[in-house]
Amino acid sequence: MNKARITSTTVSASVRTRVKVPIHLRSSHQRFEAEMVTFSGLCDTGEHLAIVFEPLSSSPHVRVHSECLTGDVFGSALCDCGEQLDEAITMLGKLGGILLYLRQEGRGIGLYNKLDAYDLQISQGLDTYAANQAINFPEDMRDFRVAAEMLQALGIFEISLVTNNPDKISQLERSGISVKHVLQTGVFVNSTNHRYLRTKIDKHHHTINLGEELQ
Ligand SMILES: [Zn+2]
Repeated sequence: MNKARITSTTVSASVRTRVKVPIHLRSSHQRFEAEMVTFSGLCDTGEHLAIVFEPLSSSPHVRVHSECLTGDVFGSALCDCGEQLDEAITMLGKLGGILLYLRQEGRGIGLYNKLDAYDLQISQGLDTYAANQAINFPEDMRDFRVAAEMLQALGIFEISLVTNNPDKISQLERSGISVKHVLQTGVFVNSTNHRYLRTKIDKHHHTINLGEELQ
């Protein structure tokens, strides 16, 4: 990322509130001190949240997580979002860093539409992306520009990104964030979400190693 591109970026969003919220992970019983940050002036109307774990380095670890109510809250086995979220909180809580929790449920199509797509996946055997298309949505509507805006509002322009998704890297770079390092996320395969993960690899080039046992 060249410097001119960073300095030419207009920071439109600003920090609205910062609230200290201790986090007690249910999966591991670990506890971390965190600060939840809200924003004004983001490019969409979602109530997106940054969760900041001190200390922050000059190029802090950042995880961009899109909301998945079914996986994050209820532990749905159709995806691995809940495990990925817990992994991110544990990592960032230990090392310091920022979790950007984007309210882009169901790859941006919303909760009810996501459940409609699940229904098609189960009843007609469609994969995640084909099911979205069958209900007249693009396969992925997520927009990561808002993540760049949140980082910029926090005064952060260089990061170490925790992701398997090459699209997140390119969208953040295009929005003026320099991705200095990329750290892979863990893989949480079960008998139910194997196909979901395989589709991510085949259709969107995610760097996920599913291992030998479930290939
Ligand atoms: Zn999910």
